[in-house]
Amino acid sequence: MDIPSLTIDRVREGLVASRFSAVELTTEALRFAEAENPRTGAYLHFCPERAVAAARRVDGRLARGEDPGPLAGVPIAVKDVILTKGVRTTCGSRLLEHYIPPYDATAITRLESAGGIILGKTNCDEFAMGSSTENSAFGPVRNPVALDRVPGGSSGGSAAAVAQGTAVVALGSDTGGSIRQPASFCGVVGVTPTYGRVSRYGLTAFASSLDHIGPFARSVSDAATVLGVIAGRDPSDATSAAAPVPDYRAAIDGRVKGVKLGLPREYLKDLTSETGEVIERGVERLRGLGCEVREISLPATGYAIATYYVIATAEASSNLARYDGVRYTFRSESSGTLADLYRNTRGEGFGAECKRRIMLGTYVLSHGYYDAYYLKAQKVRTLIARDFEHAFQQVDAVVAPVSPFPAFKLGEKVDDPLAMYLSDIYTITGSLAGIPCMSVPSGATRAGLPVGLQILTRHFDEPGMFRLAGALEQQTS
Ligand code: GLN
Repeated sequence: MDIPSLTIDRVREGLVASRFSAVELTTEALRFAEAENPRTGAYLHFCPERAVAAARRVDGRLARGEDPGPLAGVPIAVKDVILTKGVRTTCGSRLLEHYIPPYDATAITRLESAGGIILGKTNCDEFAMGSSTENSAFGPVRNPVALDRVPGGSSGGSAAAVAQGTAVVALGSDTGGSIRQPASFCGVVGVTPTYGRVSRYGLTAFASSLDHIGPFARSVSDAATVLGVIAGRDPSDATSAAAPVPDYRAAIDGRVKGVKLGLPREYLKDLTSETGEVIERGVERLRGLGCEVREISLPATGYAIATYYVIATAEASSNLARYDGVRYTFRSESSGTLADLYRNTRGEGFGAECKRRIMLGTYVLSHGYYDAYYLKAQKVRTLIARDFEHAFQQVDAVVAPVSPFPAFKLGEKVDDPLAMYLSDIYTITGSLAGIPCMSVPSGATRAGLPVGLQILTRHFDEPGMFRLAGALEQQTS
């Protein structure tokens, strides 16, 4: 069995033709993933018992002649910020090192109901804060394409697992680019759906108004299948959307002739590197397929980083207040008053990046600064969303780079938080607007480092996004 070459369709064909059972495939996939994992450190831990139990259910359905579900037998990796009942969920943090959740995230329940097999949990930046996976308390992940480089972040483990071939698809989370940027760095497909399209129930909160769950895959079609499974209204998440879930795979029909694409002037002006050349070639390919390309303007782009790092840190400072040494697992050993317990637990438990964000977020929400920073940022967020609304009056989709540069070296930016923040410039605008956006492999630099092209569409126009991504994928491969 050649695990890295599997696709959702190939798994299904093999099961239906009885070339292997779901239990056989799962056992082999686990063996392969455990053997390959030391190269990248993509997984933090595996959950073989849960995986084999899920595989048995799939085999049972097949034996009874029932539909085994759209993800039957498919090996899946899950970012370790998404709760899995009975399976450790650390969020890349010392504070949750031994935390075993008492319930499953809705996305997890849906994956398994569709026949999916969760192999294990993947490494990530602590509480999903970062762009390189170097902020994990459990050490960094290496990019399988170039082992001395980062896989991107914060969902670096999930992107690396899919690129390495140790999972067919994976789940990540994206608050300001954490699915798209690692997808771009590792050369896989990464999708951030419309805000509210996928339930956040059981996703550990970082910045609730920006948090999304979304898929990684090696093909646009596999990503579309996974999104179709996890999307949809969930009574457990009041912000989940009731809009019907279309057949995303059916949208990949190659009919992109006449589709109007906008290239944001503000994104391209600083992009003189090789990344720019790869993006240009990608856009040319879309033009060759009959898309009409025009320049557009997203004038508020220059404020996006500041806006994001005010809003995201404000929400994070509030969401992370729950890790107090009383609830959850980690508690400081040093004794003292209750206030000491809080202080020591948080002081010892959180890594530097989380502390930085808690301080910044607390500051921008504090009396006297709230209006000047937080409220102002909310207003600018509206301007950024309006930029896209205006753009979508002229074009059907916006095409852009994902990151100003390809995967950087491990350690290169870890001591310079501002440089790390600035690398998010092209992804956070879409996050702030809450629109669907994805990274699709578009080529590589001369050194062989993958570069993803970003496609952004109107709220709930995932079909339009997948159609373009599928057409580009065809041309690229
Ligand atoms: N790199 C961004 C940050 O550090 C985005 C993270 C994310 O999307 N979770 O906030």
